[in-house]
Amino acid sequence: MKALVKLRPEKGIWMEDVPLPHVGINDVLIKIKKTAICGTDLHIYKWDEWSQNTIKTPMTIGHEYVGEVVEMGKGVKNIHIGDRVTGEGHIACGHCRNCRRGKLHVCENSVGVGVNRDGAFAEYLSLPAENVVHLDSRISDEMAAIMDPFGNATHAALSFPLIGEDVLITGAGLIGTMATAICRFAGARYIVVSDLNDYRLEIAKKMGATLTINPQKGETIEQAIHQLHMHGFDIGLEMSGSPAAFEEMIENMYNGSKISLLGILPGSTLIRWDKVIFKALTLKGIYGREMWETWYQMEQMLISGIDLTPVITHRFPIDDFQKGFDVMESGQCGKVILNWEK
Ligand code: NAD
Ligand code: ZN
Repeated sequence: MKALVKLRPEKGIWMEDVPLPHVGINDVLIKIKKTAICGTDLHIYKWDEWSQNTIKTPMTIGHEYVGEVVEMGKGVKNIHIGDRVTGEGHIACGHCRNCRRGKLHVCENSVGVGVNRDGAFAEYLSLPAENVVHLDSRISDEMAAIMDPFGNATHAALSFPLIGEDVLITGAGLIGTMATAICRFAGARYIVVSDLNDYRLEIAKKMGATLTINPQKGETIEQAIHQLHMHGFDIGLEMSGSPAAFEEMIENMYNGSKISLLGILPGSTLIRWDKVIFKALTLKGIYGREMWETWYQMEQMLISGIDLTPVITHRFPIDDFQKGFDVMESGQCGKVILNWEK
């Protein structure tokens, strides 16, 4: 079968002919229809320091997809040939302390699809049946293909009550823009979004941002607070991974407010702990999606009409995958869909 493989430890990604994946007794084989490129795939493509320390070549990458079940092992129950599915990309071990208490998203032995084992940028993906997510017929293929990052945004945004709250989102990337739509959908009052990239701030506006800020143009979060006659933000969603953005967030949070940390801040990031303490802030690290509460919340938001369509800006047939990675690298895009169907 055809697969997009990280073949060599250098920049790039290669279309290869590889054997069909093995389907174990508790696995399903999914024929891939559409995939989406994640920021993680771009890191692997560029072969940055994180990839060099994490990825063992050769590796078929990709973990955002929609497809159809075409085969399954003898032990699989409640799944049928022809089911339209996507899947949770973190495969939990099922036997560690966290798994046994139902906290699969913080499993200590978690394995990542398309990171630690072959992924979905291929004609077929083999996945443990327990990671399969069935799709309601009202969820489109494109929305299904981006449920993995939508889940990151959902997990971060719905960690705290949002009705009537003022939200600051630093980073209008692929996840930050979806978080904007979730906050709007869930009843937030003002949503202020910052990014250095105007293309992405435009997407955030379409997703429901009250105000957008580009610090590179001298616009500040403090100015937004004055403009909106606020005292500070009730909820912060850090989705840039930028220490400067996080520092500015801490400065502009209201006393007693709450922050979800999704962006991967470098270990060297300095935190004004005195501010965290005297403002009585709550900081919550966000990893992945909660299994399976986040998936349930996503399904219900999609069925009841959340509009994420502005986040998808580019679509390419799979043979044009290089164009997809080029536009991702340029940053002048939202979600990029690669279509595997003929
Ligand atoms: P992305 O690269 O699409 O978005 C990050 C955005 O932050 C970009 O648009 C960038 O221009 C912006 N940015 C950079 N510096 C900024 C600054 N000083 N102020 C405001 N914006 C700034 O990435 P994404 O896919 O949306 O993911 C967001 C973050 O979450 C990344 O750090 C990613 O590594 C991380 N992530 C974490 C998890 C998790 O489970 N914790 C999962 C997926 C992604
Ligand atoms: Zn576990």
